[in-house]
Amino acid sequence: MELSASEIWAHALAAARTYLPEQSFQTWLSGTEAVGFSDDELLVEAPSQFHVEWIEDKYGALLRRSIEQRLGRPLSVSYRSSASHASPAAFALPADGPTYSSPPYRSRISESKPTVPSDKLNERYTFDRFVVGNNNQLAVAACRAVAEKPARMYNPLFVYGGVGLGKTHLMHAIGNYLQQHAPQTHIAYVPTEQFTNELVTSIQEGATPGFRRRYRHIDLLLVDDIHFLEGKERTQEEFFHTFNALYDAQKQIVLTSDRAPSSLSGLEERLVSRFAWGLVADIKPPDYETRIAIVRKKSAADGLFLEDDVIDLVARSCTSSVREMEGAIIKLLAFSSLTNQEITITLAHEALQESRIPTLVPSPSTSATDILNASAAAWGVEPRGLVSKRRTRDVTVPRQVAMFLIKEILDLPLTRIGAAFGGRDHSTVIHSIRKVDRDLQTDEEFASRVSRLREQILTGGV
Ligand code: ADP
Ligand code: MG
Repeated sequence: MELSASEIWAHALAAARTYLPEQSFQTWLSGTEAVGFSDDELLVEAPSQFHVEWIEDKYGALLRRSIEQRLGRPLSVSYRSSASHASPAAFALPADGPTYSSPPYRSRISESKPTVPSDKLNERYTFDRFVVGNNNQLAVAACRAVAEKPARMYNPLFVYGGVGLGKTHLMHAIGNYLQQHAPQTHIAYVPTEQFTNELVTSIQEGATPGFRRRYRHIDLLLVDDIHFLEGKERTQEEFFHTFNALYDAQKQIVLTSDRAPSSLSGLEERLVSRFAWGLVADIKPPDYETRIAIVRKKSAADGLFLEDDVIDLVARSCTSSVREMEGAIIKLLAFSSLTNQEITITLAHEALQESRIPTLVPSPSTSATDILNASAAAWGVEPRGLVSKRRTRDVTVPRQVAMFLIKEILDLPLTRIGAAFGGRDHSTVIHSIRKVDRDLQTDEEFASRVSRLREQILTGGV
């Protein structure tokens, strides 16, 4: 008997689970799902692009092997991110209009409701998973109201805010809610760029009537990133008509943008004014407390237990977007499974090093001499040795590290760094910095030594 995609994948996962540490399994594989076959390839979705790359790289061979054992023949597996797939590159409306590039893989959802390709909404983007804080309260309340009573309260609903603050998430949440509570609703989620591309194609193919028909048979139209309409007159025109048709028919329209309607330049006035007919709600960057709540919720959802000090570090180091915080959590997971260590505060510092960590700005009193002294101490030599002409390894290594860290932390001119080390010229300094840079890539022990030293300097422990 033929096995289904999900049976094959379940088998592969079960096999992987016996090989891998539980934390790695939970982190990387538990959120995956087989979504079908394409030709002779099994298609698997993972929660993010990072997961996709990681799984292919680290576990691809293992998974393929266990599938081959089960089936008695090889089967290739391709992975894709459900996050990126959720922004529907393949928005499948009825086939009476222009041809789309049809979805490359057969959807696991039944075809009975063609206007509502439910797998185009990211099912993870729900109200339940969204953390409400002072920064987004109004927007969330408005989105909920719209989901519960479409086209009654706020039409259109216009949500704006910076990148990575949850606009797309909330938009999908409305769609997901309605899909669940009023499954007959015709929902279309469409990023503005896609709307534009479809229009261009339909014009080229002389099929604009079909385009219009499809967009005007929708109960809930979700148009993401409407600021991309700026400067596109023909698309604005078409959108204007779509908007009016839906609005007049009392259908719900939800729009997101990176700016308030009044700040959208390059957009026709008649559109801008319509955008403000309903409710305009903004989302601001989350405050500290909300960031803590988000890190807690996200890490728990990933089955990851973080100590309070680590949660605090993530919340402090990522201040401008929630996406950035998600990236930091993924990085922690990666770091911990790569090094097979629990996520302690020290490990977290190391893992998030390149992120901006406001608690770790050098104190104003940190000087080149402090860094030089600290480097010498870390390698157990006298600071004098570092400024001397000696070229034995015991002093050259800490000397190079000190130069490297002075450049990195204080960003002094190379000539001044050279001068601080007994009058060396700037090419020597460049050479040292490059050498350290290279060794950091290849020598893990050296890298962690340098990173401990950096942390000690930055936290004022020198
Ligand atoms: P935007 O569309 O505003 O650029 P997204 O909706 O794509 O942002 O959000 C970026 C990521 O951050 C998504 O994975 C989303 O789930 C998450 N996110 C944003 N805000 C929140 C929040 N308040 N609670 C939980 N997750 C959030
Ligand atoms: Mg978005």
